[in-house]
Amino acid sequence: MKTYFVRTFGCQMNKHDSERIAGMLEDRLGLVEATQPELADVVVYNTCAVREGAEERLRGHVSSLKAAKTVNPDILIAVGGCIGQRDGESMLSYLPHVDVVFGTHNIAHLPSLLETAQRTRRPSIEVLDTTTDFASDLPALRGTPWHAWLPITVGCDNFCTYCIVPYVRGRERSRPLDDIVAEATRLVADGVAEITLLGQNVNSYGRDLYGESRFPEALARVAETGIRRLRFVTSHPKDLSDATIAVMAENPAVCNSLHLPVQSGSDRILDAMNRRYTAAHYLGLIDKLYSAMPDLALSTDIIVGFPGETEDDFEATLDVVRAARYDQAFTFLYSPREGTPAAKLEETVPRDVAQVRFDRLVELVQSSALEKNRALVGSLQEVLVEGGSRRDASVLTGRTAGNKVVHAPLPDGIDPASLAGTFVSVRIEETQTWFLSGHLEGYERT
Ligand code: SF4
Repeated sequence: MKTYFVRTFGCQMNKHDSERIAGMLEDRLGLVEATQPELADVVVYNTCAVREGAEERLRGHVSSLKAAKTVNPDILIAVGGCIGQRDGESMLSYLPHVDVVFGTHNIAHLPSLLETAQRTRRPSIEVLDTTTDFASDLPALRGTPWHAWLPITVGCDNFCTYCIVPYVRGRERSRPLDDIVAEATRLVADGVAEITLLGQNVNSYGRDLYGESRFPEALARVAETGIRRLRFVTSHPKDLSDATIAVMAENPAVCNSLHLPVQSGSDRILDAMNRRYTAAHYLGLIDKLYSAMPDLALSTDIIVGFPGETEDDFEATLDVVRAARYDQAFTFLYSPREGTPAAKLEETVPRDVAQVRFDRLVELVQSSALEKNRALVGSLQEVLVEGGSRRDASVLTGRTAGNKVVHAPLPDGIDPASLAGTFVSVRIEETQTWFLSGHLEGYERT
């Protein structure tokens, strides 16, 4: 039996694409999953070009397969995703061992590209500018049976000056609303308890198809399918509407949890980033969100050291962090992405200065997260169980609706793995910065 291994770098969209890649390799080529790349006949790297260092990691991983390929020259190495889309054939100049290069628009063609490479014993390369196919139309092998990613848009029209995504994923395209609802209905029938709607900017969903955003309607209609938990990423602050906030607040299936990237608290820097909102607009949204959902769990992305960022600009970011009371923030030191407008900006912030700011930001975010968690002590949380804790197999681990990790010991004789995918009630007793712990007050089998 031939085997495959898929390694994924990057965002949720890539994770979702990898589930489709694995599904196709099993369904269409009859392969079975290998535990390590060195043991596989087909190794697929689904890459990301958004963060610094992705290429180095890719080179390292592909190079580590050289020895295995020397022993078994029939091993096929395929590289797809954002780096495949960006580099195409030129990838062979720095990774000559690669057999297949594919992009973000032609995942469905991977089986035939692999077959061609095997038959011709030559590299098989295909990168398309656009496609009308959604990866969700392909067979999927979900990472966990109780959770599903459901893409509602692909691509992005926003062209933030630091971001490579619009160049490698293309312009925004939305799936028809009825297709989204039909897939959600199938997932619910299949026993999925939690769906995450995916898009680079879900809030603009439908503009290309319907002339206006229909995201609130999409959210409400998917919630009506009977799904227990519904999440969505990512929201752009310029497009988050009052109607979306209302659907979140009114619908119990939609988690009171939101990822709303702010990137900077300085209007000058936001303008240089082409984010098209101000700090005041962002904080106005935060007020509306907490008024509608006082228990909202809020997360964000922040870039430190964008070209031209002064101490005052950075202080403005800290002001937003204090006001927003984040539960979590993904913080990044700015690094230029080749091919983006920001990469040409010359007024760079010295690395040591950016690092000091970064450390101050992380400290503030951690104290904010701990404060939000402490407010949950004594509360009863509904937890979707993921399995046993890595440190102690008799302790279950799962997530609240606010996406917080919870640990709770189980009575003797109950295996946490048997509860995976079910909901339990946990009374929160203690908190750390990034997780909660408590005792089990009840569980249900779904
Ligand atoms: S909204 Fe901006 S940061 Fe997000 S994917 Fe689009 S261009 Fe990139």
